[in-house]
Amino acid sequence: MPDFLVDSVRPFVRWHALLKRVSVLTVLVVMSGICGWGNGQTGFSKQTLSDRKSSSPFSTPADSGIDVLHYDLAITLGMTDGFLGGRMTMQVRIPPAAGGGTDRIPVHSAQLDIDSAFVNGTRCTVERDSVHEKVAIVHPAGRLFMPGESLTVRIDYRRLPGVSRPGSRWGYYFFLDTLGIPSNLGYTMSEPSDARYWMPCHDEPWDKATAELRITVPSGYVAASNGKLVSVTPGPAGNVTWHWHESHPIAPYLMSVTASRFTVATLPFVRAPGDTIPLQYYVWPPDSLETAQYLPTVRSMVEALSSLLGPYPFDKYGMTAVVPFGYGGMEHQTITTLNRYLKTDEQVVVHELAHQWWGDLVTCATWPDIWLNESFASYSEALWAEHKGGRPALKSYMEEAHLHFMYSSWEGAVYDPVTQGFNLFDDVVYGKGSWVLHTLRGVVGDSLFFRILREYRAKHSGGNATTADFQAAVDSVTGVAMDWFFQQWIYGKGWPIYGVRQLWTGDSLIVTLTQEQSLDWSLFTMPLTLKIHGPGRDTTVAVQNSSQSQSYTFAPSFVPDSVTLDPDGWVLKQIDRTVTAVLKTASPGSFVLEQNYPNPFNASTTIRYTVPAGTESSHTGVDVTLVVFDLLGREVYRAVAGRQPPGVSSFEFEARALSSGVYYYRLDIGTWRGTRAMVLLR
Ligand SMILES: [Zn+2]
Repeated sequence: MPDFLVDSVRPFVRWHALLKRVSVLTVLVVMSGICGWGNGQTGFSKQTLSDRKSSSPFSTPADSGIDVLHYDLAITLGMTDGFLGGRMTMQVRIPPAAGGGTDRIPVHSAQLDIDSAFVNGTRCTVERDSVHEKVAIVHPAGRLFMPGESLTVRIDYRRLPGVSRPGSRWGYYFFLDTLGIPSNLGYTMSEPSDARYWMPCHDEPWDKATAELRITVPSGYVAASNGKLVSVTPGPAGNVTWHWHESHPIAPYLMSVTASRFTVATLPFVRAPGDTIPLQYYVWPPDSLETAQYLPTVRSMVEALSSLLGPYPFDKYGMTAVVPFGYGGMEHQTITTLNRYLKTDEQVVVHELAHQWWGDLVTCATWPDIWLNESFASYSEALWAEHKGGRPALKSYMEEAHLHFMYSSWEGAVYDPVTQGFNLFDDVVYGKGSWVLHTLRGVVGDSLFFRILREYRAKHSGGNATTADFQAAVDSVTGVAMDWFFQQWIYGKGWPIYGVRQLWTGDSLIVTLTQEQSLDWSLFTMPLTLKIHGPGRDTTVAVQNSSQSQSYTFAPSFVPDSVTLDPDGWVLKQIDRTVTAVLKTASPGSFVLEQNYPNPFNASTTIRYTVPAGTESSHTGVDVTLVVFDLLGREVYRAVAGRQPPGVSSFEFEARALSSGVYYYRLDIGTWRGTRAMVLLR
């Protein structure tokens, strides 16, 4: 995420949560009316991403000036005001792009007071570059830093309270208990580009590093952070230092510190024999019973997602629950921040948990790729619904999500919302992106879809991915070039609006599909299924659709009375309800094309069909041809069986040199045509 509750519409939150949204707003208004924010953050509720967009131009990996290998952060939180300060020590490598060397090390730092900076023990000068929200660390003797060289960069800094920050990009938020919360509260919230407002770092999603976080707070406070808890050590002046170690690479926007007088509820999760990790809530005492009772549900979620997506990847899974918090949740690595009002909200909890795989383990390489975080986490909500209630629950979950057509951002492309004028976290990357993943699953089938997710995760685990990387995983697993899918669904706008017209001629059913969307959305090429209903029976056929108006002729073995497009609801679409009824006249045909067996298949599969007795040319037999197409409609195989007598016959189809993927087989029997899909798995 972040998931917005206050500052912009948070789309996936459904009716019950919308009610909560109102209560959050009410509380914020009441609280700000009482005494304002702890460190003058009266602009908190006005925070918007469009503010961020204008002040934080997103750069690309080509701009990278350094490669951080490890962060070692040691900070003190005052906990009586918004003071945060201490030392950041970074292990840095100069990338090869620096060529003959560079005289400066660029580090993100926005409105932090830097007291001193050292490189390999030598005190350096610090030049501000406020346009890029960076400082440059320059060697006093003009020494060049060479590509491949490993450097230790140490920066002592303070983040002073009471300083105005543009666009309410606080980075660190502090609130006093006089606001009506159980105790003073401080937390960081960085996505997309505000980590630089609370710590010097290389604040780009593609530069991940391991991290050590030592947070000193007054005794009695708990400081929750990323990774494993190493120690809690009392220090001088009644302070205590919480030492956390994140051994898995982490992007700066996922680094997090949350401190208050929390209690901790823990439930062990056995990931594998001899491998147990804690599931935890860090909450205020009044919330401890409710959250402790919810932890078994969290464990079920971890188990369900682990079986679908691969083992839970980190050393713990923790959640803090705080308010005021302008979002539903934020997926900080191993330590999600939840809005207190949504701390046991099923959809929010499972969404943030799913981000541990999609966003944290595999991180979007650039912000235009944000759908790789959000669409995947949002679709994981549907997977959890399916886990509990099977296919009917999945279908109804997606139908409910479909209601979000009301959000205008759906008209845009899933990729790169900001360039299209949307917010980075608009619903196009949540609701629409989730639907597009569902559509992809419908096209390739369950077996390949989950293999795609596993291959994508395995390849980019601990690192980053671009949209092209995900497409490469789709191509690799399906064995076909899926660019056609990405061009229309990820880079293209809108969705198809189908018209369905039907005509029964007495022995043939003619179905005409039209695409009714306006011209600035392109035509969609899609494999589609049609369910032909008759009295007490039905049959499902697969068709390939790619033009504005396309007709298909079938000879069902019964008199049809209606046709349903995409009966199982796999395709993001609308249907133009100008459907004509099937014209009923008597004359049963009974050609039958059966589903191939086995399916999916490896080397070969059997395709059975029935030629009916009593049809026009049955006494002499009819021509039977088998044609196999790939997803793009290209013919990859053709066999002619010649004239066949009435009755059941079959083709043995051998895959030979074909690669894994979805194929369509069409049987032409005289003038009758039937089409079905099959899956080849190598
Ligand atoms: Zn999210």
